[in-house]
Amino acid sequence: MYQVPLPPEYTDLSAEEIRSRIHAAKAALGSGTVILGHHYQRDEIIEHADHRGDSYKLAKDANLHPEAHTIVFCGVHFMAESADILTPDHVKVILPNLAAGCSMADMANIFQVRKCWQELQRVLGDAMSVVPVTYINSAANLKGFVGENGGTVCTSTNAPTAVAWALTQGEKVLFFPDQHLGRNTGARLGYDPETEMVVWDPFKPLGGNTEEAIRSAKFILWKGHCSVHKRFSLEQIAKARAEHPGINILVHPECELEVVNAADFNGSTEYIIKTVESAEPGSKWAVGTEINLVNRLAKEMPDRLIFCLDPQICPCSTMYRIHPSFLLWTLENLVNGVVVNQVVVPDKVKRFAKIALDRMLTVCA
Ligand code: SF4
Repeated sequence: MYQVPLPPEYTDLSAEEIRSRIHAAKAALGSGTVILGHHYQRDEIIEHADHRGDSYKLAKDANLHPEAHTIVFCGVHFMAESADILTPDHVKVILPNLAAGCSMADMANIFQVRKCWQELQRVLGDAMSVVPVTYINSAANLKGFVGENGGTVCTSTNAPTAVAWALTQGEKVLFFPDQHLGRNTGARLGYDPETEMVVWDPFKPLGGNTEEAIRSAKFILWKGHCSVHKRFSLEQIAKARAEHPGINILVHPECELEVVNAADFNGSTEYIIKTVESAEPGSKWAVGTEINLVNRLAKEMPDRLIFCLDPQICPCSTMYRIHPSFLLWTLENLVNGVVVNQVVVPDKVKRFAKIALDRMLTVCA
């Protein structure tokens, strides 16, 4: 989807003008409009959010307000799609900047996944027993594909449960779009990354594999990654440990396997927050996740040493596209009765994507 340029009257406002006009627009809109803010959003957005959370929590939070008719989702595109799938039909979901995508989600598209599926069918034959599992960080039509083909969605919290379930339904798992979450999850379940997993490169015939390798693999991992979490490294962990004896290393499972293995703790964004929040005052934490969240945790808990494992600033560049001026433009249009940037998932996609999401809720309850 294409983002139209902001009208000129929104491009030169001061931060304070934007802030006070957002407050005014929000007050005028009342409780019918709910603003959701992902943890990776900048503070100037989070301060206006009625709920903050990771993608899965926010998709559920979208349903906490029966009186709401409009959800303004300050996150990225696939999250707004999930909210549209999970909310009643009369609720409109708005993404303030349509250019806010997710580079990982964009690494797998429906045409590539269908082609992969056909190639797997050709290699494995009519008796093919592959269960597709998609990370919630994926386009709605991929969730629809999974729902239509007996698979499930997973989150970084419930991936082990979802994948273990998938392996009771079939012999192999096709996991997309994040190879690292897939590999970390398989390893956690006791599978060998070297001998039981192959990577599927959508730009190569057979994903870059031999037929034999595909036949003997338990996991077929899509060659996708998160550009933020891929930055964390063993060298950064060694440096943090050398400079801060006793420090705890806490990373997200979108990091590479060697980083997850070298860390003291790993888990989803919500897990990271809860772990640091419940830690002792005086404890030390080097955190391998998005910088806006890490800086916010450090600010909110000054009695703990909390810093980002990567010394370079590593914001999620697509999340960052939700600038407060876009939020203001969206809200003031709503005040004037104009809906801009609505994200609508087509009914057919929605039906199967909902099956996949509901399956996750049942399997991982
Ligand atoms: S942090 Fe990574 S997975 Fe999350 S929205 Fe940004 S690019 Fe996508």
